[in-house]
Amino acid sequence: VDREQEIIERIARKLRTRNLGHEASRLVLGMGDDAAILRLSRRSDFVVSCDAFLENVHFLADSHPAASVGYKSLARATSDLAAMGATPRFFLLSLALPAKRTGKWLDQFLSGLAQAARGLRMVLVGGDTAENSQVTVNLTVIGEAEPGRAILRSGARPGDAIYVSGTLGQAQLGLELVLRKLHRNSRWQKLLKAHLYPQPRIALGGWLARRRLASAMIDLSDGLSTDLTRLCEASGVGARLRLGQIPAVTVPAGLRRLGLDPLRLALDGGEDYELLFTVHPRGEKELHTAAASLRGGVKLTRIGEITRKKQIILVVSDGRPTSLRPGGWVHFRPRMRWR
Ligand SMILES: [Mg+2]
Repeated sequence: VDREQEIIERIARKLRTRNLGHEASRLVLGMGDDAAILRLSRRSDFVVSCDAFLENVHFLADSHPAASVGYKSLARATSDLAAMGATPRFFLLSLALPAKRTGKWLDQFLSGLAQAARGLRMVLVGGDTAENSQVTVNLTVIGEAEPGRAILRSGARPGDAIYVSGTLGQAQLGLELVLRKLHRNSRWQKLLKAHLYPQPRIALGGWLARRRLASAMIDLSDGLSTDLTRLCEASGVGARLRLGQIPAVTVPAGLRRLGLDPLRLALDGGEDYELLFTVHPRGEKELHTAAASLRGGVKLTRIGEITRKKQIILVVSDGRPTSLRPGGWVHFRPRMRWR
């Protein structure tokens, strides 16, 4: 049972929008996607989302650097705006801390948060603070999109190609190093970056939205197997995923003894914050020619196709197709009843 989904549905049932008349007409898209869309004027849509980042659920305050906790809290929240193709603008911070984290730890947390805000060109406009036994970060992020241009999870159609940005499984590999206390070894520092300082794909998401190239999009926060399942469910379709095409992380020879399977990291590893999107076959040529001009350059890989049959099939080049189960990351599961 997907406990998270069940709780979200209970919330939606109790708080369903009813009889709001004119007010509700300003709601373009409510619960259930990466972010909500509000149309407060004819000139732009506001794209809004919030995200909780919790000690012992999403990070370990004694293992993860405080600067990374600050940076990542904003990066992961903003990734949901990237997933809609929105331009990030503002954020609100609700922060609860134990007394022992209010000194140097807080300074470093704020440095990381400020670094992310500068990089994402976002402005803090308010928030709240409180004391709590564990570090609790809640971020509300507000972005902007041209009216009607935001990309939903629900637009994928049979025949559309499935694309993913970047390399998958890197963040999970970094987490595995932290959990095994290998993260202080200077040899593996480069492998930690995707886990500690993820880069949401703002430019790519906005570009896809402006050119109307993607029919559906979601960010990879919980792993390809889980997030592709969500996109397919929202669109009422299935998918054929080609295992050999998945751009999986390379596990260095020096870490082979850990027994980590790059494809498992890529399929089920969480927190890559890459974009998963679908493209009508007519748009693929434009995607490839124009993607080369994207600032900074970003690797785009075609990993399969959308199908009519509501099932996700994994195609292995030399074997029989098998069906894919959502096996995405559920954070520090042993400590948690649900995420
Ligand atoms: Mg998301």
